[in-house]
Amino acid sequence: MKAEIIAVGTELLLGQIVNTNAQYISQGLADLGIDVYYQTVVGDNHLRLQEAIRIARGRADLILMTGGLGPTQDDLTKDALAELLGRRLILHEPSMAKIEELFSSRGLAMVESNRRQALMLEDSDPLHNETGLAVGNALTAEGTHYILLPGPPREMRPMFDGPAKSWLRQALPDERPLYSRQLKFAGIGESNLEAAVIDLIQAQTDPTIAPYAKEGEVALRISTKAHSEAEALIRLNDMTAQIGARVGQYLYAQEDIPIEEAVVRLLRQSMKTAAVAESLTGGLVAELLTSVPGSSSEFHGGVVTYTNEMKQRLLGIPLSQLEGPEAPGAVSESTASLMAERVRDLAGSDYGIALTGVAGPAESEGKPVGLVYLAIASREAATQSYTLLHLSGNRQTIRVRAAKQAFYRLWQLLSGK
Ligand code: ATP
Ligand code: MG
Repeated sequence: MKAEIIAVGTELLLGQIVNTNAQYISQGLADLGIDVYYQTVVGDNHLRLQEAIRIARGRADLILMTGGLGPTQDDLTKDALAELLGRRLILHEPSMAKIEELFSSRGLAMVESNRRQALMLEDSDPLHNETGLAVGNALTAEGTHYILLPGPPREMRPMFDGPAKSWLRQALPDERPLYSRQLKFAGIGESNLEAAVIDLIQAQTDPTIAPYAKEGEVALRISTKAHSEAEALIRLNDMTAQIGARVGQYLYAQEDIPIEEAVVRLLRQSMKTAAVAESLTGGLVAELLTSVPGSSSEFHGGVVTYTNEMKQRLLGIPLSQLEGPEAPGAVSESTASLMAERVRDLAGSDYGIALTGVAGPAESEGKPVGLVYLAIASREAATQSYTLLHLSGNRQTIRVRAAKQAFYRLWQLLSGK
């Protein structure tokens, strides 16, 4: 099964909007195990739209179109396809009734063009529009399947996820669904991770392994086509075990959650709490922790002590530690440790986490951009400190990476890996 996505809209060609619909549909089709070979973009032009469909049906079994289902003159998708297939457009009565009801409930007069949103090709299946007026369409003609979706993402997404996917499942009953698992890693770079499993990637047939990276995190997505979930689980578990034997010490989750969520879960399991003192990350660590729902039982709070004065006033770090020719300075291992210990004591938490460093663009205290000190103070053991020397990227990237490193190190301490 080969699929092609045709996004219709002159705004896309002009660069006024980004083709997020194609991305969304591609991801959804990948989950169903359907390969997308081409993504096409075409303007609101009748002849070029038909040309795009002709090319697509020559190389794809399934064509998904988005955009151009609206009421206006430049909404041409249904007309273009109907003419090409030699089919009439007919009125979908329930959609028409919905449109009429909406207009009368708002006391507005309906114009003729609004009827267009209720049109569908003859011998096709309507796709219900939960969040808008234009009805979608699905049909099979001369062995090619067509699915027509509206352009606005808030209408397109529910229609694709709901009625379009169920239509696909019954139209293509032989396709074995794809089962996927995300393996999430921290503390290892994308290239090192790939190198550790490169032979598995190269030998892959099923399950397949695909690496990808987000800022400060890397993941492997393993996927298998199977007849049942039980069959899929056996293969995914086996591949997970093979990968785990090589890089298990960096594997923090077998689902798509961020490292901070894994940390909050571990804190919860061990009934521990944490607080943070941040300098270069300016509250980012606290922001990420509070983004995890229900983290208030594990995360007490934090302070942003950006200037030396604030480090002194709020955390009681002596000025002699921060300033002067002999002082270690704000960006130092000992300052990070002191910050971590003070915030732990202030908050009465089990762990204190502190970050101080140089996010750039200029160096500070004669210390280079990307030099970050991280410290984790606990109640049971000596304070752990880490020098993160090679954080690269711009100011924002360095801050994100530093925050993610803090979570990674805490995760290591909590998980014992
Ligand atoms: P409408 O009833 O709003 O006219 P429509 O189905 O006719 O819907 P279009 O007119 O093609 O769709 O696009 C309407 C809006 O939907 C665009 O202005 C844009 O904001 C959004 N949109 C359209 N296509 C895409 C796309 N491929 N990716 C993301 N957004 C899109
Ligand atoms: Mg439109």
